Amino acid sequence: MKTISTRWAALSGGMMVVLAGLTLPTMGASATPAVTTTLAAKVALPPVALAHGGSGSKRKLQKDGTDAAAAKALAVVKAGGTALEGALAGTVVLEDDPRFNAGTGSNIRMDGKTIQMDAACMDGTTGAFGAVAAIERVKNPVLVARQVMDTPHIFIVGDGATRFARAMGHADFYPESPQAHARYEKVKRILNGKEMGDASEAWKRFNWQKAWNFTTGLKEALGSPDTVGCVARDKQGNYAAGISTGGTTITLYGRVGDVPIYGAGIFAGPKGSVACTGEGEVIVKHLVAKSVYDLMAGGMAPQTAVNRAIKAFPVEFDLGIIAISDKGEGGGCNYGESKVYTENMAWSIAR
Ligand code: ASP
Repeated sequence: MKTISTRWAALSGGMMVVLAGLTLPTMGASATPAVTTTLAAKVALPPVALAHGGSGSKRKLQKDGTDAAAAKALAVVKAGGTALEGALAGTVVLEDDPRFNAGTGSNIRMDGKTIQMDAACMDGTTGAFGAVAAIERVKNPVLVARQVMDTPHIFIVGDGATRFARAMGHADFYPESPQAHARYEKVKRILNGKEMGDASEAWKRFNWQKAWNFTTGLKEALGSPDTVGCVARDKQGNYAAGISTGGTTITLYGRVGDVPIYGAGIFAGPKGSVACTGEGEVIVKHLVAKSVYDLMAGGMAPQTAVNRAIKAFPVEFDLGIIAISDKGEGGGCNYGESKVYTENMAWSIAR
């Protein structure tokens, strides 16, 4: 951690700054656009969309999924939809694909049945942000996060989030998938041999990660956690981001990572948008999405900003990022089969 802090402080230059060009909304998350940048000042840039399938996703096997998500997001913005509508549409494609740990493919918790999800979205033009955490029994958490944006709040959690979803018309849906069951069975076998049984309480108190003594590495055995994300720019040159997750592979009830935390898992502003994936606890401590955005807002090309962030994180703390700005697009992950970080993780660009 110390190493990351040092590396990250060096790269972000302590840039915990207030967004340039934005004045804070005074009336909650859905306040009228507060951006001081005028449309006339914007350079006309073509629509673009990027999607990622999580730091643990396999580029060879799952890129068709992120291709479809990026293509959907692009189709929405090309048809005149806003960047936010595009980012949401792309995220929904991945939430509905059970191969990804979000929405329908979300991880099952250690009790073998609970599924809790986190999601968020952000509009780079208005500064509006909406998030849900530890929400249960909904199909598309990112769409609930979008509806939070229209309330005076920015973040609703747990049972309150689920009840809010029902009030907003989201049907009861248990996002169970064979893929998540297979992941859970693997976790169970790894933790306890063949059965959870009486040993489960003891395992909760025991630092089994520290004591890991199999020849197969812990990461390899459990797989890496995942999240899905989508960033888009619309015809007007506005930016937005969406993100959704079923949480890390082994997660206690009620745990929340970076995904719904403002500036951590996603960030969007007048200069671009960013979506992350990886070790949520570490991403929060370094507000990775906001820091990458700040680098881009300072003029750095997205791929360079992504590169700097990824190089700051050792592979023990996996980190994947996608980003866009008026200087292009960037993406990659520090964890995966390839030594070339841009070749790791399923992530796609649609132009
Ligand atoms: N960042 C997510 C979390 O910590 C997991 C992931 O992206 O893989 O919940």
